[in-house]
Amino acid sequence: MKNTYGEFYFENEKNYPASVYWDFYDKNPQDAIRKYIGHIFCPLCNLAPLTVANGNKLRYFKVIESDRDKHDLFCSYRHDKANKKETEKFYEDWIALI
Ligand SMILES: [Zn+2]
Repeated sequence: MKNTYGEFYFENEKNYPASVYWDFYDKNPQDAIRKYIGHIFCPLCNLAPLTVANGNKLRYFKVIESDRDKHDLFCSYRHDKANKKETEKFYEDWIALI
């Protein structure tokens, strides 16, 4: 299951809900793109760049596959939404390293 983001981190500022972008985008798409694209990041670790997926009905922020490693090592968005078993395994492996 792919991660999508309900909010984004805007350079050196703070997190905003995704609707801040989309409201702006609906009024003035070019300004929204100019202002935000390339300047928004994962709301948790602030490191991985977010990309906008903009279909007719589906709009969301995502981190493209090749940028996934840019998440902080401990960022929970670093991994696709894991099922419970995978999550347990991840933490077991991690504890084993300590
Ligand atoms: Zn992250």
